[in-house]
Amino acid sequence: MKIYSHENLSLHRPLPYFSYGQMHEPLEIPERMTELLKAPAALGLEVTTATDIGIGPILAVHDFGYVEFLKHGYEEWLAVEEDLGAQVQTGVFVPYDNPGIGIMAKAAKYQADDSAPISEHSWTSIYWSAQTALNAAEALLNQDTTHDRHNTTHADNHIQLCFSRPPGHHARKSAAGGFCYLNNAAIIAEYLRQKYEKIAIIDTDMHHGQGIQEIFYDRSDVLYTSVHGSPINFYPAVTGHEFEKGRGAGYGYNINFPMAHGTDEAGFFAYVDKAIDTVTLYDPDVIVHVLGFDVYKDDPEARCAVSTEGFTRLAKKMVALGKPLIVLVEGGYYLPKLNDNLQAFLSGLMLKD
Ligand SMILES: [Zn+2]
Repeated sequence: MKIYSHENLSLHRPLPYFSYGQMHEPLEIPERMTELLKAPAALGLEVTTATDIGIGPILAVHDFGYVEFLKHGYEEWLAVEEDLGAQVQTGVFVPYDNPGIGIMAKAAKYQADDSAPISEHSWTSIYWSAQTALNAAEALLNQDTTHDRHNTTHADNHIQLCFSRPPGHHARKSAAGGFCYLNNAAIIAEYLRQKYEKIAIIDTDMHHGQGIQEIFYDRSDVLYTSVHGSPINFYPAVTGHEFEKGRGAGYGYNINFPMAHGTDEAGFFAYVDKAIDTVTLYDPDVIVHVLGFDVYKDDPEARCAVSTEGFTRLAKKMVALGKPLIVLVEGGYYLPKLNDNLQAFLSGLMLKD
C-alpha cells in the first residue's frame, strides 16, 4: 500500500460563513489534516510526499476560465478598491451564464454556494490536493503491465490512499461548492483513461457527489455509483436521486443509492453492497473510492450511523473487489475521531494487501 499527501494541503483556511439563517464555523479546516495524519503515523505507515504532475490533467476535466478563477480570483478580489472582505465569496448565485466581467461576476459564475470561498492560500491547497491524487494515478500508469487485466498482481501500488484536502466530489466542471474546488476523483479517472478502458468510482461520502455525476453523466467509460443521504433537504439538495441514471451513452452508468436519514449501520452496508454489486458487474480496470468519514455516527454532517469498526469493514469490501484501488480521503468533520476512523480503515486495507 502507498499513501500520498503534501504539506500544502493544510494551508487553505476558510472563514466563518452564513447559511441556513445563521453564521457557521467552517467544518473543512486544516486541523482535519493534523488529525488524519496521526493515523498512518500510529500504524507505522510511510506517507509519500506528492510530486507535481502539472496542470494538464486538471484542465482535461475543468473549464479553463474556472481554473483561472480559482488560481487568480483572490488577487483580483483584493485589487478591487472597495473592501469586499478577506475571501472571495459573494452570495450571488443565480445561475446566469454571465460573461464574468469583474471578479464579483466571476464569483457568481464559478461559485455554486457560499461554502467554497477562496482565500490567500486556497489555490495552493486546491492544486496540491489534485496533485496528491494524481500521484496515485501516475503510479498505476507507470506500472509494468505484463499481466493481463484479469490477473492483476498485488504490486506496491495495487492499493493507494491519498489525502484529498480540500475535497473534490462536489466540484463541477466549472463551479466550486460544498467545500470542493477541483474534482480530484474525476481528474484521476480521466487521467487513468490513457491506459485503462473502464474506471469505476464508488462514493461512500455522506453527501452525493454531484460534480462527479455531472462530469461523467454522458459516458459509459467511467461508472459512478454513490451511497449518500437522501438529498431531500440535505446537501447538495438538487441531485442524488435514484432516477438520475445518466444520459445517452452514459445511461445506466450513473447509479445513486440515496439513504433515508437516520439509516443505521446495517442499512448503510446494505446500500454499499448494492453499489459493490454494480461495480462487480461493470468489471472495471481500476476503482476510485471517494471515502467520507462524515458517515460516522457522531459527525456533524451524519445522517446515518457508521461505527469506527465499520470503516474496517468498508475497507475490506473495497479490497475484496480485487482491482487496483485508489482511495481519496474526502469528507469527515468530527475531529476527535478522524484519527481512529482512518486507522480503522487503513487496518482493513492492510488485512488483504
Ligand atoms: Zn460529505
